[in-house]
Order: sequence, then structure tokens, then C-alpha cells
Amino acid sequence: MSFEVTSKDLLGRIGTIDTKSGKIETPHLLPVVNPLTQPISPEDILKIFRCNAIITNAYLVKKNLASEALANGIHRVLDYDSVVVTDSGAYQILEYGNVEVQPDEIALFQEAIGTDVAVILDVPTGWATNRTRAAWTVNETIRRADLTLKAVTRSDVLWEGPIQGGTFLDLVAKSAKEMSQRPFAVYSLGSPTPIMERYMFDRLTDMIMTAKMNIPLSKPLHLFGAGHPFMLALVTALGCDLFDSASYAIFAKQGRYLTESGTLRLREIEYFPCSCPVCQRHTPKDLIELDRTEAERKLAEHNLFICLEEIRRIKQAIIEGRLWELIEIRARSHPSLLQALGALKKYAQFIERHTPSTKKKGLLYLGPHGLSRPEIIRHRLRLIESYRSPKARQILVLLPQVHKKPYHTSPQLASLSTILRDRRIHVCVYGFPYGVVPLEIDDVYPLSQTESPTPTDLETERYCAKIVQEHVASSNYETVVLHATNDSLSRRLIPSLRRFSKEAKRRFTISYKGDTPWRKDAVKALSNTVRRVG
Ligand SMILES: [Zn+2]
Repeated sequence: MSFEVTSKDLLGRIGTIDTKSGKIETPHLLPVVNPLTQPISPEDILKIFRCNAIITNAYLVKKNLASEALANGIHRVLDYDSVVVTDSGAYQILEYGNVEVQPDEIALFQEAIGTDVAVILDVPTGWATNRTRAAWTVNETIRRADLTLKAVTRSDVLWEGPIQGGTFLDLVAKSAKEMSQRPFAVYSLGSPTPIMERYMFDRLTDMIMTAKMNIPLSKPLHLFGAGHPFMLALVTALGCDLFDSASYAIFAKQGRYLTESGTLRLREIEYFPCSCPVCQRHTPKDLIELDRTEAERKLAEHNLFICLEEIRRIKQAIIEGRLWELIEIRARSHPSLLQALGALKKYAQFIERHTPSTKKKGLLYLGPHGLSRPEIIRHRLRLIESYRSPKARQILVLLPQVHKKPYHTSPQLASLSTILRDRRIHVCVYGFPYGVVPLEIDDVYPLSQTESPTPTDLETERYCAKIVQEHVASSNYETVVLHATNDSLSRRLIPSLRRFSKEAKRRFTISYKGDTPWRKDAVKALSNTVRRVG
């Protein structure tokens, strides 16, 4: 099995999984197909929705359609001429208790019906589970994984190993480590559905990241049961490559209409906020007046369209390097998603290590959650760990940020040519959101390709002040000259730099403080100060 990644952003990736019935391009949402009753036919899912991989339940097929599936294969039974993933029935265990099938028996059945990607019969940990039971589900799933891998006979079926442990993160880590020692083509995170139904996306973030940090990154990760479009960007950014969901059909049955930012009740909608074929041809009133089955089918179609549209939007964001911007926008649709974005902070350094360092587009800094994004973390780490200010520079001149970037090309800085040529002086620009930018690296991506609002919020301001102070502390300047404006960042920097300089026995001086730091008199004051301290 090969999983070839062609584009990455955060931990999200566009890649292809090769199966015997074709390639799945990730991130991919596998619509759950009920083999017995289905509002949208698998054939339409392939031809109209152009979705080339679905998932169905092997346990239900075995129970109800076994002879047909064994004779003609699962693709013929479903009338779906593309990739079929089969779940083993574990979800039925979670819902209805034990299922009457053995792990090796259902594995051989999945092989016999010609499934392309098969999930072993695991034991989902579930939600309301105590630790003892959770630990048992982890061990039992591992035992069943071994039993299954020993029993299988075909080499062209890809096997998927579910990671259990529920909300017990140490158990999730153990499960992920154990499963990664077994030759699965795909790993999956089991039983998050109740957590997603309760909108506990911060917990979900912890579960996904714990699994992700303990499996090989070269393998795809499948998140079971994630099908609401408003969370797909987040879970993609955390490194989930496959999703499956019946929510398009379940929500339709309940008269609920999915949008990329939430769920609406059909009865409460006056205007459809969507241009899919269903919403173009019908008004909400039309759908309400249709007979129940027909209305449900139309609603399911819209719901699936909107899910697949979001997947395409996510892919485009990965290509552009703007997945962070997308998760921030989506996080604004529900406080629990915003909370998850906060939880992501803990994993920021791991995510940073695996995010490309250059991208096609610049960054849009949208607020303090952006302080966890890889580019901001990377700049700070670079300043602390690897950046060395040019030798023999004894005087640090801190200038306020100007609008034009890179800063050294701005007319304001051009007016400082004498200072810039002085080899004793090191010029850095302070501002948002990077805190401090040494002038000689100001054209390194993405320092001059970042847009951020000014004035900014308090948290960003505090962060930037801290970075300036860290930079001063980690360098050996004899003198620090602050050319200050009247803004609140400058006001914050003055006492902190003064205090620090006193403690570190360095000279600190303010060349100018006012609203017009680039007027002739202010620039002259800066020259005079530099001459005096030099
Ligand atoms: Zn629509």
C-alpha cells in the first residue's frame, strides 16, 4: 500500500491511497451507505456527487445479503463501481452490545466479498466507560488485530487498525503504539462519535493528537464518524485523512439542514444559504410540502453536497497554505470549536515541525489564537535557538513597524541610511504579530507576507512585548535604543526594557516618543541619540 502525499499544511495533507479499485484522494469523506436502505443510491454518489469511495457495514451485509455478496461481490451488491471500505460491525457492538460474529470470521467474509479497505472487528471503548473497561477494550482490540492479521489471506485488501482508549489519553497512546507495530495500511481513531455529538471538540483534539503522535506519519489516519462540515477543517488540520459519516442521511431524516457553520431545521429556514442543485431548484417551503421520503432524499442530497464542498474547500486551503485561516473562520461558528482551537496550543510545536516552511500565499493573522500557528512559533524558536545578530553590533535600535514590507524597502527606513550603514548598529523592527524582526531577515518568508490588524488585541500585544524582551535578553548589545510611537505596545515596552536593562547592566535610551516617529525632527533625534551612545 502506498500513501503518497502531494501537498501539506499544518498536519493536513492531500495524498492518494492506492486500492485495488482505484485511488482515494485525501482528505476524503466516505459517505456511509446502509446496504438495506439508502436515501441516495451509491451509483448517484459516484456519478452525480463524484465521490469515489464509500463505506458500508460488513456485519449488516453478512446478516442480510451474504449469499448475494459472496456470489457477486460487494461492488455489485451496492451497484458501486469504485472503492468500497467495509466496517466490521464494531459500531453495532457500541450500539447494541455484542454482535454474533468472530473477528477472523468477519475478516474472511470481508475478503470474500472483495472489499477494498477493511476494518478489523475491534471493540470500541465508547464514551461512558470506566478505566478498567477502557483498558480491556484496548487489549482486546490488539488481540483481535493479531487474530485477524493471522487469518487473512489476500494481499490486495488494505487493513485498517482502530485505536481505542476513549478519553483516557494514556490508553490512547498505548493503543496507538501497539497498533503501529502491526502492519496496517491505515490507522483509525475509534469511538469519538459520542464526543463529537456532545461538541467536546477540545477532548477530541486531545484524542486525535495523542493518536497522531504515536503512529507513523507516513500512514493515513481515519477518524470514525466525523461528518459535520463545520468540524472537518479542524480534524484535517490535526492530521486526519479519512472521515466517514452517516450524518448527511441521519440529519436529513430529522429534517435538519447542514451548513458549513452549523445545523438548521428545515422548518425554520426562509432562504437557503446554498447554491447546490437542490437549493437552486427548491425553496424551503417546496421541500416541506413534498412527501416525507422525497423531502428526506432532497435534504440528504443537500447535506452530502455541503460536506463534499467543504472537503474541496479544505483541499484548496491546503494547496494555498491557508488551512489555519480556515480553521479560525470555522472556529467562529461555535464556542466549542473555538475551545478546540485553544486546546491545539499544547501541540503547536509538534504541528510546527511538520508544517512546510514556505507557502504559496502570505499569512492572515486574525487574532490571538493565531499565536499557536506554526509560522509564529517558528519565528520565535528561530530567534531564541538559531538566530545570531550580526557580529560587532553593540547598539540595538528598535524601530516601530511601518506599513510597507519588507521594511527595508520602505521610504521611512530609507531616510535612516546613515544609521543603517553604521556597522556598530543593529536595526530591528518591533510590531505585530512577530514581536521583533531583525532588518537583515525581513524578507524571509513569511515575515513580509503577513497581514495583521493594528492596533491589535491585548494578548497579541503582550506576546509581542515578551518577544522583544526575549530578543534583547538573548543578545549581547551594550545599548538598546527605542524609537517609540505613542501606541500601547511602545508604552508597554518602555518600562519592561528599562527594568530589564537595569538588571542586565545595559544602557537603555529612548530616542523619540510621539505620534510622528518618521518626521524629520524625530529621525534627527534618533541620529543624535545613536551618535551620543556610540
Ligand atoms: Zn444546498
